[in-house]
Amino acid sequence: MICDKILEDREFGHLYIIVNARAVRYTFRPANDGTPQVGIRVTVPARYDLKDLQLSVEKMRPQLLAMLQRSQAAKNKKSEQPRIGWDFRIETDCIHISLMKGTGPKYLLHRLPGQIKMDEQGEVLIMKPAVLEIYCPPDCDFEKKIVQEFIERAIVEGIRNHAKVQLLPRLLAYANRYGIQLNEVKINSSKGRWGSCSLHKQRTLLNSKKSYNINLSLFTLLLPLHLQKLILLHELTHTLYMDHSPAFHAKLDAWLGGKEAELDKELKKYKTTIFSFVNEENPT
Ligand SMILES: [Zn+2]
Repeated sequence: MICDKILEDREFGHLYIIVNARAVRYTFRPANDGTPQVGIRVTVPARYDLKDLQLSVEKMRPQLLAMLQRSQAAKNKKSEQPRIGWDFRIETDCIHISLMKGTGPKYLLHRLPGQIKMDEQGEVLIMKPAVLEIYCPPDCDFEKKIVQEFIERAIVEGIRNHAKVQLLPRLLAYANRYGIQLNEVKINSSKGRWGSCSLHKQRTLLNSKKSYNINLSLFTLLLPLHLQKLILLHELTHTLYMDHSPAFHAKLDAWLGGKEAELDKELKKYKTTIFSFVNEENPT
């Protein structure tokens, strides 16, 4: 943390003073300096008076202490709870994932492919979700970081496999419907974007038909079917418009039967919750 001054405090550890030209009063927040010693971050106006600040701290001491205790309690709770445990479940349109109590010391995977019936236009008629059951040793210790990481990887890889099998044929069917030529489609593990599209650089000028590369995040598979369609058609629309111009949205909206805005709004709800079982520290 970059701060302008550090004061020692008998109860709080440290007061980290940060001058902010736009501040009009003192603002106190728990300091997150990564040390077990908890401190307080104080934002102060440019021309602050140290004596006055110290007086304020004394006056507010009970409230500040309570603030630190709340923050510490929240932190402890967060680190105590394993993200993945026996009750872990993902149940979406396309995939059902659960943890099962095994009988031996080994982890085993039980997989069943999903069953999709599509019409020629790429619309899903019947969808039976894929199943991924992860059998864990009965004495599996979910408190252990290594266990969390191992199971998380099994889940992510399971989703990746099914994403390939389920999303690609649908993307290709839509592309076919709109006469779009794709060069390569890849599944990645992006948590920031559901998909991306780029023009494939042709090696020869003789081939005049343009083709495109599309990347899809494996997490797209966890969305409801109608939102997956939004993602797939969004990327295909980029083969016509490489921006988010009004023309782009007009085309996409037409392909979605006038529902783009409504679907976009619904998609926002999934932006963070869908990755909640993935540890942000793990680069996947
Ligand atoms: Zn876009």
